[in-house]
Amino acid sequence: MESTYKKAILIHFGELWLRGDNRRIYIDLTKRNIMMQLGLRPKQINFQYDKLLIPIEKGMDMQKLLDKLQYVIGISNYAISYSTKADLKSIEKLAESILREIKKGKSKAQPIRIESSRAYKGHKFTSKQIVDKLVKLVIKMGLEPDIEAKDSRMFVKVYKDIAFISFGRANGVLGLPVGSSGKAVVMLSGGIDSPVASWYAMRRGAAPIYVHLHGYQTNELAERSKIPKILSVLSRYYPRYKVYYVPAHIFQLALSKMDNKYEPILLKALMFRISERIAREEGAGAIITGESLGQVASQTMANIAASQQSVELPILRPLIGLDKQEIIAVARKIGTYDLSIMEYKDVCSINATNTVTNSSREKIGKLLSEMKIDRIVERSLKASKVVSV
Ligand code: ATP
Ligand code: MG
Repeated sequence: MESTYKKAILIHFGELWLRGDNRRIYIDLTKRNIMMQLGLRPKQINFQYDKLLIPIEKGMDMQKLLDKLQYVIGISNYAISYSTKADLKSIEKLAESILREIKKGKSKAQPIRIESSRAYKGHKFTSKQIVDKLVKLVIKMGLEPDIEAKDSRMFVKVYKDIAFISFGRANGVLGLPVGSSGKAVVMLSGGIDSPVASWYAMRRGAAPIYVHLHGYQTNELAERSKIPKILSVLSRYYPRYKVYYVPAHIFQLALSKMDNKYEPILLKALMFRISERIAREEGAGAIITGESLGQVASQTMANIAASQQSVELPILRPLIGLDKQEIIAVARKIGTYDLSIMEYKDVCSINATNTVTNSSREKIGKLLSEMKIDRIVERSLKASKVVSV
């Protein structure tokens, strides 16, 4: 490849056209997150022509950057690109050297799809003329043009003074840059659902603060469990987070005096209240759970209503309409599934099989005040450990 062409990674934003006056905030946050996740300095990433460009300099490991980009939230797609002057001859010359490179790299010639669009319409040539010219070039070089080819697309974008040719486009994770929706407290269990809920919430711009209620003797044991492993998988999508390890033994002691058919509902109520307290301290605007409607006894409409009483912050449930099979598919895709199905010491050892499915707010409210829930929240939080990553 001639060194006169500037090689770069070209990044397209997701949903930017919906952002109106706030566009700049989303652009800056996406840029900040890319820098953080790829380990780049501000000067190594530019905003141009409504895209972000990472010029590839000597000594940069492009493949490594591309691998990390697949985890940055807020990106619709990204590709390797070269730029040249905005005239037919220059475009053709650049295309030729890219095609030569592609041909060299492949043992079997792959069909190539050519596409073009002009952001500036004042040029004497049309997009169709570019495509026609490049299709001829592809044939001349012994490669096969194919408008159906999915994996090897060569795309020419022409501006007034510059043209970009990109290829090898990959899909990004989509969504809004993490942080753009503020902070949210994520109730994280060792199960399959809540890591997926966290991922969805991050994808809508929420920066996570995790709360995990654990059944271990000490917080240190919880810190050595699979929970931080799950968090480390999730942190590929956003590396900064806080986690509260809250021991459950104070609650469990109080619970031992209660009728165990209400146990999961009372436990959920406790978790909501602890989460809300943490949210207030951390300035988080919502609580996220992995609940889905009717999945288990504690997730009937009546029990959801009873357990969330007196919590004022919005409780968001990204999985509410998903089937377990769909949740599992996402868990596999994001990489949390194998950890989630590993055996884990859950909070409730006596898994109440006789849980009532239609508890009332009054009944649960009465039981919570009998248990002196506010004191349990205070004491549990005092006994918790916070880890910042
Ligand atoms: P999951 O697979 O996420 O554990 P689940 O199907 O087991 O969910 P529940 O046990 O009713 O369902 O939990 C519902 C939600 O409550 C979880 O998705 C999670 O958000 C929260 N939760 C459950 N256990 C804990 C825990 N130990 N600490 C913090 N939050 C929890
Ligand atoms: Mg669970």
